[in-house]
Amino acid sequence: MKLVVLPGDGIGPEITAATLNVLEAARIRFGLPLELHEDIVGHASLKEHGVTVTDSLLERVRDSDGLILGPAATFEFKDPTRGEINPSMFFRKRLDLFANIRPSRSYEGVPSKVGRFDLVVVRENTEGFYTDRNMENGNGEILVTKDVSIALRRITRQCCERIARTAFALARTRGRYLTFVHKANVLKTSDGMFLDICREVGEAFPDVRTDDVLIDAMMAHVVRAPSRFDVIVTTNMYGDILSDLTAELSGSLGMGGSLNAGTDHAMAQASHGSAPDIAGRDIANPISLILSTAQLLAWHGQRTDDSRFTDAAAGMEAAVGSALRSRTATKDVGGNLGTQDAGKAIAALI
Ligand code: NAD
Repeated sequence: MKLVVLPGDGIGPEITAATLNVLEAARIRFGLPLELHEDIVGHASLKEHGVTVTDSLLERVRDSDGLILGPAATFEFKDPTRGEINPSMFFRKRLDLFANIRPSRSYEGVPSKVGRFDLVVVRENTEGFYTDRNMENGNGEILVTKDVSIALRRITRQCCERIARTAFALARTRGRYLTFVHKANVLKTSDGMFLDICREVGEAFPDVRTDDVLIDAMMAHVVRAPSRFDVIVTTNMYGDILSDLTAELSGSLGMGGSLNAGTDHAMAQASHGSAPDIAGRDIANPISLILSTAQLLAWHGQRTDDSRFTDAAAGMEAAVGSALRSRTATKDVGGNLGTQDAGKAIAALI
């Protein structure tokens, strides 16, 4: 398995170093044929190449079996004409990574205010508001006025169908229960179409129980009783927001695994950002990127029918569980280790 590794900005290099330690332990323990290529994105690439992500890097990623992408300081990248491109969006769009799979669960050893739960948010990853079709500047085509900015959201049948199918297929491997999250009471045409298509796709999955919840009410339901949910499917921006909440419910935003998967490519990426408030202090929780990398190995193992990778993914997840049980972890989840030592502890457990 050829992997490209891009540490990114802020806490990215720290959590990537800890993740690579864990991956090396998994390589040895499970005999994984792994080949890693490290490269740069974000500020490091802007400094070196004048652009936050290069086209030659995209080709390298296309030729690989997967990508591990650290968080980027995307808020600081405002003007694409000056090379300031959002690397995450770049890979999602160029590789058509349409499904963002974000599991969250409670862990023994990590105090939880909301009880035990185990759910997955399946987020549409290529359209909605996040294509930045604003009409004022940037990629926009129509200037309204200096003080009025309009952003359009595009929702298509094709993207709704494929994300719904992905979520139903995932639900079949878990508790056979899928919740559609939307705002079709107000956005009757766009979210209404998403909801209708989810129901249509569901006709081919009669063994999966379904229901639907409005996105605003979902904030209350998921905090009140997250154990009620199994797999949740939703559009791009709702999924981004909801999955940060569910990651935090598991104990910390630093525990949210995230796989961006398409038909031919996949990218492991922590669900949080570059956390500039804690960067460079060896206190960030590396579990998010470790779990995302485990998801990437499992994705590859399933595609290639190679159980070494699926076993390694399960081994990494089990080691994370053991580390949390004994509080051999970072401070945000009740431990007293730094980022690198937390990674080493998980590696040692593997
Ligand atoms: P953030 O996700 O970086 O941080 C939010 C809060 O969670 C902060 O208090 C941070 O310290 C904490 N946190 C995040 N990751 C953590 C970890 N691994 N361990 C412990 N605590 C952690 O969100 P932000 O501060 O709003 O954004 C910072 C930058 O990241 C911005 O430039 C934003 O655009 C960018 N961003 C990038 C991505 C991405 O690359 N995928 C995603 C979201 C935000």
